[in-house]
Amino acid sequence: MNDEHKLIYKTALDFSRKKLSEFVDIMEKEDKFPTEIWDMLAKQGYLGVGIPEEYGGSGGDYISAALVGQAIARVSGAIALSYGAHLNLCAHNILRNGADEQKKKYLPKLAKGEWVGGMALTEPDAGSDAMGIQTTAHYSNNKWILNGNKTFITNGPTADVLVVYAKTNPKKGSRGITAFIVETDTPGFLVSRKLKKLGMLGSPTGELVFQDAAVSEKNILGEIDNGYIVVMSGLDIERAFFSAMGIGTMEECLELSLKYAKERNQFGQPIANYQLIQAKLADIYTHLELSRTYVYHILKKAQNGERVSKEAAAAILFTAEKAMDAVNQCLQIFGGYGYMKDFPVERFYRDVRLMTIGGGTNEIRRLIIARELLGKR
Ligand SMILES: Cc1cc2nc3c(=O)[nH]c(=O)nc-3n(C[C@H](O)[C@H](O)[C@H](O)COP(=O)(O)OP(=O)(O)OC[C@H]3O[C@@H](n4cnc5c(N)ncnc54)[C@H](O)[C@@H]3O)c2cc1C
Repeated sequence: MNDEHKLIYKTALDFSRKKLSEFVDIMEKEDKFPTEIWDMLAKQGYLGVGIPEEYGGSGGDYISAALVGQAIARVSGAIALSYGAHLNLCAHNILRNGADEQKKKYLPKLAKGEWVGGMALTEPDAGSDAMGIQTTAHYSNNKWILNGNKTFITNGPTADVLVVYAKTNPKKGSRGITAFIVETDTPGFLVSRKLKKLGMLGSPTGELVFQDAAVSEKNILGEIDNGYIVVMSGLDIERAFFSAMGIGTMEECLELSLKYAKERNQFGQPIANYQLIQAKLADIYTHLELSRTYVYHILKKAQNGERVSKEAAAAILFTAEKAMDAVNQCLQIFGGYGYMKDFPVERFYRDVRLMTIGGGTNEIRRLIIARELLGKR
């Protein structure tokens, strides 16, 4: 990490602690994403990280974007999740695969927070088997007509623009999928349900319906039938980006655990004096250091255009499991207080559960790694 990256992280952490923390309670209580957050993130330039200035962004690289996500995750997993869907799954995807005209139209609005973005791939019957989607798009009168359902879509209920995957050539299987940029005021698009979740409260997750939603051919992202390439173009970076959220969670857990262990007295002394507590602190630290070093190493390679599928899958696999462990150990150190809503640990405990599911499950991550190890790419 260079000095600029260190400064970005420090500034983002200060900002998250001072400004974003005030929204945490209301998001938990009302399960709503306050729109002011988008304005504040935009003002800081965070919605444009990794997007060149010519498209209204604030420049920087994917490492900088992941560092901002990591810092936000220390305060709120839900804000970090919505931030990642907006910036990484939507804006960065358009930047990588969009035509100049598309970048000029969408990126400035996304970077300024005028529009909220997301990405819709998952369907009720196609999660891990993402290429088995059934949403279709057929061509009629110079438009692509989308029909189908999407589910679990982060920012789906509030998004203005979504990258949507649909089958344009069902006979060609995974090679017959196309990515579309869909504006959500398109007639025929509707949010059928806002979903209620275990954690990440406040980050809206939705079920979406496309009923003869007509999309201009100008809104094809990449090439027809090449949606597979669009998905693959960002997968390594998306996995590393999501891992950064886990790192933020681990960092916060270590800090909270150290503080509490030194302050909490039992049997006449701080619980930090007990070796069973020390072992938990050492484990959280070790897993955090390994995750942080590995994830940013992978991200740097991905940034330089190297193919790091196996490594990125390994990074998120490891980080997700260790982040879950870290929160579990942190809650144990807090004892009964960790179980109460007075402390943030129980919220982290619910939020972190997404790490082994979202963006591909740990089972699938293991399969990807094994497939490459066995030369079955
Ligand atoms: C809060 C949240 C936000 C999300 N945001 C988005 C979003 O913004 N956009 C989007 O497109 N999607 C999003 N998703 C969807 C997410 O990517 C999927 O949930 C994930 O890919 C798993 O799919 P599934 O839930 O259908 O599980 P399934 O695929 O049905 O899997 C069920 C279980 O079976 C296992 N399994 C499946 N296949 C195999 C196999 N071959 N071998 C061994 N085990 C297997 C899985 O690992 C899992 O344990 C989100 C999900 C959540 C929960």
